[in-house]
Amino acid sequence: MSLAQSQKMSQLSADNAQWEDRQLLRSGAVRGTELQTEFEDEDENRVILLVHDTKPPFLDGRVVYTKQAEPVMPVKDATSDMAIIARKGSALVREVREKQSSNKSRQRFWELAGSKLGDILGVEKSAEQIDADKEHVGEEGEVDFKEHAKFSSHMKQKGEAASEFSKTKSLTEQRQYLPIFSVREELLQVVRENQVVVVVGETGSGKTTQMTQYLHEDGHSTYGMIGCTQPRRVAAMSVAKRVSEEMECELGDKVGYAIRFEDVTGPNTIIKYMTDGVLLRETLREPDLDQYNVVIMDEAHERSLNTDVLFGILKQVVARRRDFKLIVTSATLNAQKFSNFFGSVPVFRIPGRTFPVNILYSKSPCEDYVDAAVKQVMSIHISCPPGDILIFMTGQDEIECTCFAISERMEQLEANARKAAAPLSILPIYSQLPSDLQAKIFQKAEGGARKCIVATNIAETSLTVDGILYVIDTGYGKIKFYNPRMGMDALQVFPVSRAAADQRAGRAGRTGPGTCYRLFTESAYQNEMLPNPVPEIQRTNLGNVVLLLKSLNVENLLDFDFMDPPPQENILNSMYQLWVLGALDNVGRLTSLGRKMVEFPLDPPLAKMLLSGDELHCVNEVLTIVSMLSVPSVFFRPKDRAEESDAAREKFFVPESDHLTLLNVYLRWKENQYRGDWCNDHFLHVKGLRKAREVRSQLLDILKMQKIPLSTCGSDWDVVRKAICSAYFHNAARLKGVGEYVNCRTGMPCHLHPSSSLYGLGYTPDYVVYHELVLTAKEYMQCVTAVEPQWLAELGPMFFSIKD
Ligand code: ADP
Ligand code: MG
Repeated sequence: MSLAQSQKMSQLSADNAQWEDRQLLRSGAVRGTELQTEFEDEDENRVILLVHDTKPPFLDGRVVYTKQAEPVMPVKDATSDMAIIARKGSALVREVREKQSSNKSRQRFWELAGSKLGDILGVEKSAEQIDADKEHVGEEGEVDFKEHAKFSSHMKQKGEAASEFSKTKSLTEQRQYLPIFSVREELLQVVRENQVVVVVGETGSGKTTQMTQYLHEDGHSTYGMIGCTQPRRVAAMSVAKRVSEEMECELGDKVGYAIRFEDVTGPNTIIKYMTDGVLLRETLREPDLDQYNVVIMDEAHERSLNTDVLFGILKQVVARRRDFKLIVTSATLNAQKFSNFFGSVPVFRIPGRTFPVNILYSKSPCEDYVDAAVKQVMSIHISCPPGDILIFMTGQDEIECTCFAISERMEQLEANARKAAAPLSILPIYSQLPSDLQAKIFQKAEGGARKCIVATNIAETSLTVDGILYVIDTGYGKIKFYNPRMGMDALQVFPVSRAAADQRAGRAGRTGPGTCYRLFTESAYQNEMLPNPVPEIQRTNLGNVVLLLKSLNVENLLDFDFMDPPPQENILNSMYQLWVLGALDNVGRLTSLGRKMVEFPLDPPLAKMLLSGDELHCVNEVLTIVSMLSVPSVFFRPKDRAEESDAAREKFFVPESDHLTLLNVYLRWKENQYRGDWCNDHFLHVKGLRKAREVRSQLLDILKMQKIPLSTCGSDWDVVRKAICSAYFHNAARLKGVGEYVNCRTGMPCHLHPSSSLYGLGYTPDYVVYHELVLTAKEYMQCVTAVEPQWLAELGPMFFSIKD
C-alpha cells in the first residue's frame, strides 16, 4: 500500500467536503410548492413584482418533479484509490508543464515527436550495456508487477512476427489475412437475408475496413451509398484513408469521410465514413436517409449519446424502408441487447484470432501513473525483445508530457552511456492531433526503431495498430460527465471500466503473444472498476438530448424508442425548463431560438445567455462570461494568505455582479498578455483562465459557423446584465434583510456568499438572479447579478408581471 493511510484519510475528508459542497439544488429546479403572489412594500413608488406560475400547456397537468435526478456517476466509488488518483492528476505532468513554459523546449518536443531518436549510429547493444542501462532506469519508484494468469485462452500459438507482416505483404494479402475474410461469404449471405444484422468481432478483425468493401463488392452500393458511422472523428478519417488505399482511389472520390466542419466526399462517393453526429444531423434534412442503401453503425458498444439516439431513429427508418439495411457492430460480446432492440435479429460472430496476453498488475496503487508509465516504457525498451509499445493516457496534455518525459529519459540514457541507445520512435495520438501526425502511428518507424505510441482511449477499439506487443494501461480515461456545478458537460478523468481495460489489454495480443502492464492493482480491477461503461445518455445533460431530439423532429419524446430510456420525469422536467427559456413553444415544438441553442455544447441557460448577447449586441462580453462559468473558480485562496488573496480578489469586483467580475478578471488578464506570472501576483489560477480562453475560442468558432457577429457593448455593461437575466430569471431572488434574499417564486431564503462582489459593499440591489444555489451551512447563491424587476417581467412572463 503505497498510498499512506493518513494521507489518504486527509485527502478523503477534503474530497468529502468538496462533494458535500456540491450537493446542489440544480439550477432551474423549483423548490417547494406554495407561491408568494405578491410582496408587500412600504415604498409607494417602488415597482411591485407579481409572481405566478404558468405551466406549459403540453405538460397537460402532469406532475413535474422539481429536482432533476443527478447524472449517473461513471465511477463505482468516488472515494476509492483510483477515483482519488484520477482527481489528483499527475505530478509529473505539472512538472513537465512548468519546464515547458518556455516555448523553446516545447518546440523541441515537436521535433522529436515521431522521429527516431538516437539511431544515428544504429549501435547494437552488448549484454553488459543492456544491464548497465537497466540499472540506470531501475531506480526508485518503478512499478512492481505481479504475475497473473493468462488473459485469454482461445488463441492460436502460432507466433507470426507481427510488424514483419504488414511490411512484407501486399494490401490484398493483408486483407485476406484478416479474420473476417474467412467468413466473408457467410456474412454476406446473412446480410442478404436480413434487414438488420448485429456483427460481433474482436478489435482488428476487419469489421470497419472490410465490411463496407464486401458490401460494395456484393452490389449493395448500386442504388445508394454505404455509410459507416464512428463515435470518433479520428477513426472516421483514418479508416476512410486506409480503405481508399485498399480500393486504390483518391480519398474523397469513391471513398470519403465527413466529420463536423469537414466533408471529404464527392459525387462518386459510394463508401462514406462519418461520425455518428454527422449522420444524426443528416436525418434532420432527410428523415429516411434516402442516399443510403446500407448503414453500418460501428462501435455500438461505445454507447455514445449520438449512437444511442441513432438506434431509435434508424429503427424507424428500417420500418419505413424495406430496401434499407442496417448493420450494428460491436467489439464486445454483450451484443444480445442490440439484437433484442431490433427485434431479435441475427448476431453474426467473426471468429477471433488472438494470441495470449500476459497481464501484470501493479502490486500497489500508482499515485503518479504518468511517471510510472514513463518508467515502464524505459524498462521495456531496455530489457524486452522487439515489439511496439502502446500506452493509454487520458488526454492530450498527459500525452504530450509523457512523450516529452520519455524523450528526456532517452537523452539521459544516452548521455550516461555516452553512446546511442536503441532507437525509439515516440508517437502521440489523440483527436486534436493534426492528421499527418496521426497517420504516423500506422507507418513503419524509420530504421526499424521500436514504436512507442501514446494514445487516448481512441486506440482501445477504434484504431488498430499492428505490431503492438506491449500495452501499458494507466487504467484511466476522460469521460464526458454532466457537472451540475458547472452546469455543463465536462470531460473528467475517471477509472475506466473492466470491459475497457480488457479491450486495452487485448491490443497487445493481436499479432503475437504480448504483455499488458496494468498500472493499478488487481484488487482495484475487481473492486473499483465498473464492469461496463455507463452509457453517455445516463451521464450527460438531458436538456441537450431533448433539444437535439426536438431538433430532429421527434414529436413525442416519451414514446421515443431508447435502448436505455432516461427516466420520464427527467424528460418532462427538461422540456419544462426548455419551455421556460423559450426553446420550446406551448405545444412542445422547438422554436427558432431553440434551434440555434442546439448548436452549442452548453447547458441550455448558458446557450440562451449567449444568444441573448447576440440580440442585445454584447456577444463578445457574454461569450467571456459563459467561458469563465464553464471552468472551476479561477480565484486562488491559500489558507495562510487568505486576507491578502481576498484583498486581491476585491480589486476585481464589479459591485453589481459576480458575472461581470468574472468578465473583468478575464479582460485584465488579456490586457496583461495572458501572462502566468500576472495571475500568480493576483491570486488567480492560470490553468483555469487558460481553459476559459480555450473554451472561449471553441465557442467563438461555433458562433462564426452560425454567422453570429461578435458584437460588443463596450463599457456599458447594463445590457450584459440583461442577457444574464434572460437566462437565469428562473433563479430570481428579492432582498429581504441585510445580505438576505428570498427566492421570488418559492419564498425560500437564500444568502449572499461572503465571497460575492455584492457582499458588504454597501450596495444591495432589490432583485438579483443567481447561477445556482449551493447548500452548505446555509443556502448560498453562487454567482449573483443585480437585475431590474422590469427585466424579470419582460424576460420571464410565465413567472412575473409588474403591478400597474
Ligand atoms: P475492426 O474494425 O474489426 O477493429 P479494422 O477494420 O479497423 O478492424 O482493422 C483491420 C486491419 O486494418 C487492422 O489490421 C489494422 O491495422 C488495419 N488498418 C486499419 N486502419 C488502418 C490505417 N489507417 N492504416 C493502416 N492500417 C490500418
Ligand atoms: Mg473498427
